[in-house]
Amino acid sequence: MDDDVFLVRFWGVRGSISVSGPEFSRYGGNTICIEMRCGKHTLLFDAGSGLRPAGWALRASGVTDFDLFFTHCHYDHIIGLPAFKPMYDRSVKLRLWSGHLAGRMTTRQMVDEFMRPPWFPVRLDVCKASLDYRDFVSGDVLRPRQGVVVRTGSLTHPGGCIGYRVEWGGRVVAVITDTEHEPGQLDQAILDLIEDADLVIYDCTYTEEEMERYRGNGHSTWQQGVKLCEAAGARGLALFHHDPSRTDDQLDEMEKLAKDRFAGAFAARDGQTLEFPVSSHKKR
Ligand SMILES: [Zn+2]
Ligand SMILES: [Zn+2]
Repeated sequence: MDDDVFLVRFWGVRGSISVSGPEFSRYGGNTICIEMRCGKHTLLFDAGSGLRPAGWALRASGVTDFDLFFTHCHYDHIIGLPAFKPMYDRSVKLRLWSGHLAGRMTTRQMVDEFMRPPWFPVRLDVCKASLDYRDFVSGDVLRPRQGVVVRTGSLTHPGGCIGYRVEWGGRVVAVITDTEHEPGQLDQAILDLIEDADLVIYDCTYTEEEMERYRGNGHSTWQQGVKLCEAAGARGLALFHHDPSRTDDQLDEMEKLAKDRFAGAFAARDGQTLEFPVSSHKKR
């Protein structure tokens, strides 16, 4: 693995529920999962159905030590966890982090509630990996691995959700999903998380035209993503958490409209990889 690259790979870009069919084949149908490689450190964000192929790839590349951060635990963000093969591998060390349920439920309780009968045939003790559960509170600054800084903040979503800002080697990538914006306002917590970011991965479930029908669902638009990125001086915008009914052709159109407004915008697709070179003197 290249030590001088901050790598971002999308394993699942679909929101709400996974989809399949020819009309979704180019952007993909897996739900939320993002991999980040900060040199030799591997971080994962969310455990949607995209976590399953991510697990195969991590095994194939010999990665046995990683951190998994949950934004929140709606199904589209956790459904892939039981199908994540490294969980069953004795040689794997996995740290699981969450903060959206702080004071209500620990990370361990959240995973244990989900992976047990009658929702799942067996209990967590079938997992042979070394699982280390970490709890934090929104606003905490996490240092999961040497030189990697992860800042956290609260998003606007039913039941709570955490936004993340990952800093390594002088590069910044932010994960801002799921969140709903107030019309005409820019969320200061998000501006803080995405300030001067190389890439902002943003909840673009709806368009502004659709938004009125779906107020209260806890999602946002590419138009709002563009406004936030412009205000915060961010350079890249990944349209993400695609609505399950959004076809490839519609996403092409959405990407074109977004690019016309903001050159760094693109619609994320399953399997897509971005690389940000880092200067070695900035790795701490
Ligand atoms: Zn979601
Ligand atoms: Zn959600």
